[in-house]
Amino acid sequence: MNLPPHITVQDGRLKIGGFDCGDLAERYGTPLYVTDQDRIIALFHAYRNELATRYPRVKVLYAAKANGNLAILRALAREGAGADVFSSGELTLALSAGMAPGDLLFNGSSKSRQDLALAVEKGVPVSVDSLDELHVLDEVSRQAGRVTPIAFRVNPALDVPTHPKIATGLATSKFGIPHGMIRDAYREAMKCEGVLPVGIHCHIGSQILDLQPFVEAARVMVEIVRDLVAMGIRIEFVDLGGGLGIPYHHQVDERAPSPREYAEAVVPVIRKGLGEIGITPGLWVEPGRSLVADSTILLTRVNSTKKAHKNFVNVDAGFNLLVRPAMYEAYHEVIVAGKADMQPAETYTVAGPICESGDILAADRRLPAVHEGDLLAVLDTGAYGFSMSSQYNCRPRCAEVLVYHGQAALMRRAETIEDLTAPMQLPPWLS
Ligand SMILES: *Cc1c(COP(=O)(O)O)cnc(C)c1O
Repeated sequence: MNLPPHITVQDGRLKIGGFDCGDLAERYGTPLYVTDQDRIIALFHAYRNELATRYPRVKVLYAAKANGNLAILRALAREGAGADVFSSGELTLALSAGMAPGDLLFNGSSKSRQDLALAVEKGVPVSVDSLDELHVLDEVSRQAGRVTPIAFRVNPALDVPTHPKIATGLATSKFGIPHGMIRDAYREAMKCEGVLPVGIHCHIGSQILDLQPFVEAARVMVEIVRDLVAMGIRIEFVDLGGGLGIPYHHQVDERAPSPREYAEAVVPVIRKGLGEIGITPGLWVEPGRSLVADSTILLTRVNSTKKAHKNFVNVDAGFNLLVRPAMYEAYHEVIVAGKADMQPAETYTVAGPICESGDILAADRRLPAVHEGDLLAVLDTGAYGFSMSSQYNCRPRCAEVLVYHGQAALMRRAETIEDLTAPMQLPPWLS
């Protein structure tokens, strides 16, 4: 099995960052998310260095929605990362992690007036997704006596090979302003006193394993920038978004482009195109998944096994904690943590505790013999794992542990049933 460097097998036991998964599960209980901080930081540096050796002004904005734990944002902030934020909550979290307002970009196709007022108040640039939003932001900014730097989110209308639910740059996507209407949007923005158009932004989708769509998007962006500059706009940043995929299949030789390959493919298009225009704006990227996905495993305990029309392994984590298999038919590798060197013996379907037939974490997997009490590790759960979790079935969310240089500590305690019921209240006629 191909494993990233922080995930190892020793005497048949699975380890993360040098910690035995069985020991972590004993100490913190299950289910449990465990994240290796060094892995995230190494990937962040790879991104920044590969881009920065090829282009002078680079900013890496971590897409906070992939994994919004404060500790992860803090670890990245310490290395100089900014963040792509998608809500007032993510914006507030990124600032409290120590990121500078100017290193954030507030994205989203449906921001409220309150969201925009927060961006204005904190001085966070906004990626504007519609003309309506432009006018509300203009008004909010003027009322506050501010001029808010903006980009427009362009929909480059590319057909990107990925799951339809995470293709965001299709002509039919809800995101962005269609590429044919974008010049008029900037003209409109130039008339607004409360905003200053300084950037351009796109994000074409997620879990993209082919570099060509990124190259195409970069070409489209350069073309638009050429026209914007001719219109008299001073472009200070070009933000290419995120979307690079990772190899979720570890049994076969699945490959994803590395940050180096990404930089080698995309930067020349940007450098040549912007060079011809005669400008050197900042080059921003917004990786989410490719920075954090493989840093994290989800440890889950086997409650029971059952022979039915299939061999079921019933575990204590379900789509309440990891929704990707149910939502996107996503594949996550599963390893029996205490039997990591054993040959497969049976075909198993790993099912969660949720009252839904679709609560399957992994279907028809060849695994060593699994018994009640065994511990399973679900790999590559650092992106869109905990961050998409819910309390469905009245299940408190689990703890998250961070490991770093031989230390392990909670970065989120497990919720309790009291946490679930605390916000509930009885209307007067029921109390
Ligand atoms: C989700 C998102 C990202 C990150 O996408 P990944 O596929 O996780 O890299 C970046 N930018 C925007 C605007 C996004 O919505």
